[in-house]
Amino acid sequence: MSIDISRVARSVCDLSAGSTSPLKLSHAQQCVAAAFGFKSLAAYQASKKIETAIDDNGMFVIIESDLLASRGHELAGWSDGAALTDVVEDAIRRLYPDVTVHHSRRLERVPAVLAISELVGLNPIVVDDLDEARYEVIENQRGEVQGFRFNFDEPQWTQHAAHIRRRHGSLAVFAPASFLRVVKKCQMQERFYFHGDEQEGQPGQFFCRACDLFQPAAHFSSAEHQDHGRRYFDAHRLWDRAIARWKLPLRRPSNAHNIVAGRAIEERRAGEASRGDFHRWVERQTGRDDRVGDLAKDIMRDEKFPRDVMTREAVIAYVESVAPWNGPVEAAKVAWREFLGERDSSI
Ligand SMILES: [Zn+2]
Repeated sequence: MSIDISRVARSVCDLSAGSTSPLKLSHAQQCVAAAFGFKSLAAYQASKKIETAIDDNGMFVIIESDLLASRGHELAGWSDGAALTDVVEDAIRRLYPDVTVHHSRRLERVPAVLAISELVGLNPIVVDDLDEARYEVIENQRGEVQGFRFNFDEPQWTQHAAHIRRRHGSLAVFAPASFLRVVKKCQMQERFYFHGDEQEGQPGQFFCRACDLFQPAAHFSSAEHQDHGRRYFDAHRLWDRAIARWKLPLRRPSNAHNIVAGRAIEERRAGEASRGDFHRWVERQTGRDDRVGDLAKDIMRDEKFPRDVMTREAVIAYVESVAPWNGPVEAAKVAWREFLGERDSSI
């Protein structure tokens, strides 16, 4: 579904009839085209011919307030651009009640996360929620970005699935290319700090994500927290998967100085080296939709699992000690049998 400019124009024409400067239909059409960012109705009509057809089920509109105000002024003597913007918004809302309308002039005051949550229709939503959401870029035949399709079909969105489906008709939510402008424009880029990142302009102070404060170097070698490595990599993952990918208005220089990075990377390397073949095999089974897959997910989440385990007895003894009922223990036996089978057949 997409916004039909002629319908909006007819509605603008009707709504303006009672005002001091009623708009003729032809002028209303020009104004609505301007509100959608086109310099003329002809430019809008031309663009429709080159655009790739999109299943546009995410209703999201930015009214170009400045362009609309200047068209309204030159065509029909509207001196109050804000009032004209309100008329156009009113017309859009009457025809498309689910639409999210932004005004280009007000964008600076809309936080990025709010813009995304309004698009999806989830409110409130936090940056962490967006961590795993996927999107694809939709281009026309000339390689110009037409919009983005956000896919909320992964398990962590299950609790919101019914809501998203009701609002958008599917779990794929379309956002027009202008959406990126909203996200980019709506906030000044703030610095994003990993755990252990040095504060800009304050040498010797480092961000602690556990305390949510900047702390002196000694804090990171004190007994205050034990899990610097995990906190560092958590922030890293959030940055890689969510912030950089969603182009949120945050920045972090690639050469940022970090007081725990060296230690965190060394710990992870040592942890990787100590893993046995079974633990590595288990990691590859986490996508399975059966009892071995369930067991694999439990094992990968379990920080106490003996990652260097090399015998069937040790695996079963551990599973029995933490989940002493039939299902997990049987699954462990099946897993070990499959692991051996694959290992032996690959030798
Ligand atoms: Zn701390």
